[in-house]
Amino acid sequence: IPVDPFDLVIFGGTGDLARRKILPALFRRFCAGQWPSDVQIVGAARRTLDDTGFRSLVSDALKEHAPKHARDRVAVEGFLSRLRYVPVEAEGPQGWEELAGLLGQNRVRAFYFSVAPRLFGPLAERIEAFGMATEKTRIVVEKPFGHDLDSARSLNATLAAHFDENQIYRIDHYLGKETVQNLMAVRFGNMLFEPLWNSQYVDHIQITVAETVGVDGRESYYDRAGAMRDMMQNHLMQLLCLIAMEPPAKFDPDAVRDEKLKVIRALDPVLPHHIVRGQFVAAEGLPGYREVVGNPRSTTESYVALRAHISNWRWAGTPFYLRTGKRLVARSSVINVMFKDAPHSIFGEDAGRHANVLSIRLQPNEGITLKVTIKEPGQGGMRLVDVPLDMSFAEALGPENQVSPDAYERLIMDVVRGNQTLFMRGDEVEAAWAWTDPIIAGWQSRGDVPKPYDCGSTGPGDAELLMKRDGRRWQGIK
Ligand code: NAD
Repeated sequence: IPVDPFDLVIFGGTGDLARRKILPALFRRFCAGQWPSDVQIVGAARRTLDDTGFRSLVSDALKEHAPKHARDRVAVEGFLSRLRYVPVEAEGPQGWEELAGLLGQNRVRAFYFSVAPRLFGPLAERIEAFGMATEKTRIVVEKPFGHDLDSARSLNATLAAHFDENQIYRIDHYLGKETVQNLMAVRFGNMLFEPLWNSQYVDHIQITVAETVGVDGRESYYDRAGAMRDMMQNHLMQLLCLIAMEPPAKFDPDAVRDEKLKVIRALDPVLPHHIVRGQFVAAEGLPGYREVVGNPRSTTESYVALRAHISNWRWAGTPFYLRTGKRLVARSSVINVMFKDAPHSIFGEDAGRHANVLSIRLQPNEGITLKVTIKEPGQGGMRLVDVPLDMSFAEALGPENQVSPDAYERLIMDVVRGNQTLFMRGDEVEAAWAWTDPIIAGWQSRGDVPKPYDCGSTGPGDAELLMKRDGRRWQGIK
């Protein structure tokens, strides 16, 4: 769907995120023909560059991060011709007059804050002071949105001093993934699942976000953050909300976000023995966490698994097991809805018992698998086995739909359209921190040390015990 003309200013336009994600995403949308001809992208950062210098930097970035599309020289030239660059000092006066002079009137202008959070305030202040804040102004901010409740509140207050909540787009790129939205389509577009979506039929839910990467390149940030702040408080929490929320009355930003917020607020505090922290150690030729971050005494977790409870009518008594970690055996983001066993086996216990599992794969190979029970083929009487009803979205939807836009493409276009459904609202972020803070404070006060786990493993053994104690086990990561 084409969008109206817009100006997009990327503060931090020369930075890593802009080069790896934002500019390639914009380029791919340009190639998809989603833009009118007079769109303008302005890189604004500290570095002294002119338009030509910025275009050459972006051209290199496209070759590296959007190689397939970048082979089309005409498309690349077309895209580069939309780019401008202004050297801007976020904390000083340099560049702001020039930037203000570049922007069109009466059109959407989005300011992407791809800079350290301490610059959000100075940027917001100057956008207003230099007359760039209009009704059509939107600002986009990246994670991390604070490192605890106090800092998130203060960031929210800083932004609220200059912009309305409906102008603020807090990005969690997980929400831009195709399958994450499919989660809502599957739940609320089918009669089949929703009646079973509660503690009467669901034994428990597992949410796994496993990564094979380590923390290279982000060592100092990560060592201060850890998996709880870096992944659990935002990405896994968002997935939990979407899987657990009540049906919103309509697919509208505030209706959806109101329901998500209710889930976070209904979360019980997590008990210390329901959490396992881990830290990877050298194995398979890969260095351990402490070596990578250069801090031999670091107690930061690169893995966390926990059991959460949502105290509401729908979910009372159904645990949610969440785990995420780095340097694990495989890259996989998956939600497993583990249904209860049939209440009685008419085939006798010898036939075997199998519960249904609905697996929603976010990556890789986005799709859905439903494990159903059938008779084991053959003559040997009635024995039961599981078989997967497997649907890969790419296969099911045909070749023309195999390349769905990546999360950044979708989210940036949503900013331009003014659709906040897939962005976190300020109160959601604060509620998530309010749940996370006591967990981290508990570790600090107890002097908790994470359990070691090997690079390339499935995480610390204690995470298996967390399940075993409850008579359950994790579904495989691979
Ligand atoms: P970076 O250090 O690579 O780039 C920072 C950019 O900010 C540069 O363009 C620099 O010129 C500009 N900048 C710094 N100080 C400035 C100032 N005073 N005035 C004007 N411009 C200034 O950082 P990055 O990795 O691109 O990250 C940007 C933000 O996005 C950070 O908040 C980071 O936490 C967040 N983020 C990054 C990633 C990632 O993959 N890189 C992922 C998620 C979130």
